[in-house]
Amino acid sequence: MSLPEVLAGLREAEAASGRPPGSARLVAVTKGQPLAAIREHVLAHAALQPGGFPLGEGRAQELRDKVAEFEAEGLTGTEWHYIGTLQLNKVKYMRAVTLIHALEDVRQAQTIADLAAKWGRAPDVLLQLHNGEPQKHGVAPGDLRAVYDGVRATGLSVRGLMVMAPDTEDEAAILRVFKDTARRAYDLGLGELSMGMSGDYPLAVRAGATLVRVGTRLFS
Ligand SMILES: *Cc1c(COP(=O)(O)O)cnc(C)c1O
Repeated sequence: MSLPEVLAGLREAEAASGRPPGSARLVAVTKGQPLAAIREHVLAHAALQPGGFPLGEGRAQELRDKVAEFEAEGLTGTEWHYIGTLQLNKVKYMRAVTLIHALEDVRQAQTIADLAAKWGRAPDVLLQLHNGEPQKHGVAPGDLRAVYDGVRATGLSVRGLMVMAPDTEDEAAILRVFKDTARRAYDLGLGELSMGMSGDYPLAVRAGATLVRVGTRLFS
């Protein structure tokens, strides 16, 4: 698959659920990919999505190194998203990031807010909702309102929720998690929904995803 094919899949899923074209945006997950591959498979297609493609990185040091490399290459204007699990001691590498997808607690938010005060700008954040699998990260559904209020109190802007699909082939089970996440975002009055990866992004769009995080399918 290639990026244009993934976009075609997005447009198809939008149409099938009566959503306007472009209401689900592709976040190109570039973790583990060298610059040459990103140029060929992502940046070359930037014109296909208004505003281009935010690049999603999931490892903090790699993000830091990529941002430096892009700057050295004169590739300015790249929108960086951080989609990985956040470690407090690595928040310092998030300076170029405009959206953090997987915030889990108020300590993380406070660490970001403190650094953002020095940087002079703050990333927006999404809260990762726990999907019920013990090994997964995220905010437990019952804690969501309290964490949301606590994060907002740090001054960060919470724009929505993010979720990982459960590890199953059962599409109905995956769709349930996506729909539940959409409902919880709606209940909080939040508009951004980061859900769906290479294997399940059409399902996520059906459930209302506004940001889909696709990596493998862009590069293979
Ligand atoms: C790697 C990653 C993705 C992309 O997964 P693919 O299956 O390669 O599309 C999406 N979200 C998160 C949080 C990731 O770590």
